Amino acid sequence: MLAKERGKPIKIDQLEALLRGLNKNHSKIPLIEPDLKKRKAGYNGEKAVDYQLSFLKDKKYMVFNDLKLPLAPDYFQIDSLLFTPYYTLILEIKNILGTLTIDSDFNQLIRSYNGIESGFQDPVMQVKRLKLLLQQFFLDHKLTIPPIEYLVVISNPGTILRMSNGQDKKPPYDKIIHSQNLLSEVSKLNSIYKEEKVSKNEMRKIKRVLLNKHSNIFKSILTNYKISEDEILKGIYCEICAGKMERVFGSWYCNYCKFYSKTAHEQKIEDYFLLIKPFITNKELRGFLDIYSRKTAEKILASLNLKTTGSTKGTIYHKEFH
Ligand SMILES: [Zn+2]
Repeated sequence: MLAKERGKPIKIDQLEALLRGLNKNHSKIPLIEPDLKKRKAGYNGEKAVDYQLSFLKDKKYMVFNDLKLPLAPDYFQIDSLLFTPYYTLILEIKNILGTLTIDSDFNQLIRSYNGIESGFQDPVMQVKRLKLLLQQFFLDHKLTIPPIEYLVVISNPGTILRMSNGQDKKPPYDKIIHSQNLLSEVSKLNSIYKEEKVSKNEMRKIKRVLLNKHSNIFKSILTNYKISEDEILKGIYCEICAGKMERVFGSWYCNYCKFYSKTAHEQKIEDYFLLIKPFITNKELRGFLDIYSRKTAEKILASLNLKTTGSTKGTIYHKEFH
C-alpha cells in the first residue's frame, strides 16, 4: 500500500528555474545543466524502484517515498521506506552509470564510466547512518522501533556491480543490489522476520507521524553556484522572441513581436519562490517583475491565492512546498 507518493524533487524545479532566470550567456550555465541532467536521471531511477515496490500489494506493507524528516539540528531524507508489522526496510536509491567496483578492504567504491575512474562515497555507510537517524526519530516520537533493515538499490539495470580482485561479496556489501532483485530481497526478509513487532494501531500512529513530520524544506541553490540574487533577470520576457514585456491594461505585451499574455508572470513568481525564498512582499514583487504600480502588484498577488501574514503594507505572501 502506498502511504506516500514521490513528488517531483524541488531541486529539479529549482535548477529549471535557475536556468530560466539567468542570462543565456551566464558563465554558470555549463555547471547547472549537467547537474539538472543528473538530478533527472536520479528521479527516473527512483521511479523505476517505485515500480518494483508497487508489486507489494499486501495490506501489511506501507510504502513511504521520499521522506524528509526533522531531527535536530537538521533533517534527514529517506528515498523509500517499506514498513511492515515485522520489520522496516530503508532503501537508498542510487543511479550510477557504468561499472561499480566494490573494494571491501578499503571500504571504497570505484566507478568507471567512459574510461574515467572516480571514487564514490560508500552508500552502505550512508544508509547505515540513516538507520541510526530513523531509530532516533522513532525514539524521540515515542514510537515502537521495529527491526530496521537497509538496502542500497542500484536503479539502472545497465550498471555492472563487481567486487575488487579476488574478494567475495560479503557483509555489508551484500546490501547493494539491483532494483530487479528488490522483491526477492523483500521475500528473504519476510522469511527472517515472522514475529509481529508493531500492532495495527501502532502502524496507524507511525503513518500519521511520518506524514505529519515530513516537510519539504526550502534551501536556496544560489549559494551552491555562488550566484547572487542580482544576477537573476528581473522582469517578464517574451516566450516567443525573448524581448522584455511591458504591463499594459492587465496583460503583458511584447513591443517587439506583439505577443501578449495574461499569465506570463505566474511562472516568474513561482521562480522567485524557488530561487530566492518561499515568501514575498508587494515591494519585492515589484522589483522582481520590474513594475512600478503597487496596485498592479497587489492585484497579481491576490490572484495567486497565497497564504498571507501581516496586513496592509507589511503583508507577506507565502508559498507552501509539499
Ligand atoms: Zn516577443
